[in-house]
Amino acid sequence: MGNPAEIPLYINGQGVAALTEETFENINPATGEVLARVHRGGKQDVDIAVAAAQAAFETWSRMPGIERGRVLLRAADIMRKNRDELAMLEVLDTGKPISETPYADVDSAIDALEYFGGLAADIKGEHLDLGEGAFAYTIREPLGVCAGIGAWNYPLQIATWKSAPALAAGNSMIFKPSELTPTNAMRLAEIYSEAGVPDGVFNVVHGFGKTGHHLACHPGIAKVSFTGSVPTGRKVLEDAAGTVKHVTMELGGKSPLIIFDDAQLYNAVSAAMNANFYSQGEVCSNGTRVFVHEAVYEEFIALLKIRTEAMVIGDPRESSTQVGAMINPDHAAKVMEYIRLGIEEGAYLVTGGEKVTVPGCEEGAFISPAVFSATQDDMRICREEIFGPVMSVLSFRDEDEVIARANETEFGLAAGVFTQNLSLAHRVVRKLKAGSCWINNYNLTPVGVPFGGSKQSGIGRENCAAALDHFTELKSVYVELGDVECDY
Ligand code: NAP
Repeated sequence: MGNPAEIPLYINGQGVAALTEETFENINPATGEVLARVHRGGKQDVDIAVAAAQAAFETWSRMPGIERGRVLLRAADIMRKNRDELAMLEVLDTGKPISETPYADVDSAIDALEYFGGLAADIKGEHLDLGEGAFAYTIREPLGVCAGIGAWNYPLQIATWKSAPALAAGNSMIFKPSELTPTNAMRLAEIYSEAGVPDGVFNVVHGFGKTGHHLACHPGIAKVSFTGSVPTGRKVLEDAAGTVKHVTMELGGKSPLIIFDDAQLYNAVSAAMNANFYSQGEVCSNGTRVFVHEAVYEEFIALLKIRTEAMVIGDPRESSTQVGAMINPDHAAKVMEYIRLGIEEGAYLVTGGEKVTVPGCEEGAFISPAVFSATQDDMRICREEIFGPVMSVLSFRDEDEVIARANETEFGLAAGVFTQNLSLAHRVVRKLKAGSCWINNYNLTPVGVPFGGSKQSGIGRENCAAALDHFTELKSVYVELGDVECDY
């Protein structure tokens, strides 16, 4: 094993050493290998990044949208050419299997660049008719310097979902990836530079929560787009309130997936597995409370057990692997503690929930996908976000009952319904208090469809044309065509 690489900050179009002169280790979750030493940005580094982003904003925001869009489309092309490399970097950083990352991570990032690149020329205001004597119009203007703060589960996707609309609208950005997954934000910065994004428009400042805190407080920053847990989201909201910043909050969840007795059961099981075991269950919108109608409950569990036990746990770099490594031993310990708690609370562990040793990855924390039955709504495993491969299956009898139980949570990120009955499906979805809902599928997030949470799961939406609204503000212009009336 050679010396680990060094990951500097990326400010004003180049890698720069942090003024703190401190670094931290970036570790491969599957092998424990130190991949890189990462520079930790402090307050002064944030100040320098903000100054660079402010200067760059002046030219980038005045460029015609079509030109900004062209640059983003070039970035998409470069990303596509480097798809394999980026997918493997994501595997090494996150522990997720290579069977997922080319699609869910890289392609999803490319989609965002192409979608918002295409929309950049179409950012516009309105003409407002005020009769013969006057009219008004609105201008949709970029906000200025925006901060993006990301979670570790979808590092490239999160960095791109935030920066593509921000840059399309003419903003500049400072992005702080999770300390656990710094690599692909840097690659994204390099790709933007190669594509022609001017220096200072996209900057990366690595670090821990403190670095995120500096960004959220900074008076030179107009907006914070945050992805992470509800408790951290609350802190960021408090910090942002100091200078009344715009905020987008993409937070956690404990989402319900409701399976009625007429559902196509094989598909319902497929969706429940996708909704709990994809990316080792480290997905914000996961449908971790699976409500199954009592008439098909036993059949559902039996099918689910067989298919779950057939999942391949292994080295994330192998194409056959379906379950990779948990992000780190601490998080794995937290997930294992929930599994212990579930058993203690009286739930029945149908399958999984064990630590697994993977040859060649002995330092990694692997957990076999766990299914709990005989669960109750008030159990902690059914109320708290576990963020691991742990599914709770609950039984229900009728529609009103299951809607009330599904909504009985402070979260409101996502929800799913499985039924062949069209009116039942739409009726139930209307009553579910969640930002992102699926009928007869789960966890699909095409770029044109708004994504985000209600209640404590979030504020604002990503991944849709309306995301541009969250990175702009309206200026109203009243135009007088006649004389000025005045009583004095
Ligand atoms: P987290 O602990 O809340 O951290 C998120 C980001 O915030 C990280 O970059 C973190 O830096 C930073 N941070 C920590 N303290 C901060 C502070 N006081 N001020 C500013 N930034 C601070 O979340 P996580 O463990 O990385 O990710 C898992 C959570 O993210 C889950 O709850 C999941 O549901 C949620 N998530 C939501 C979505 C969505 O779209 N709704 C998507 C993905 C994940 P460090 O990493 O250095 O601590």
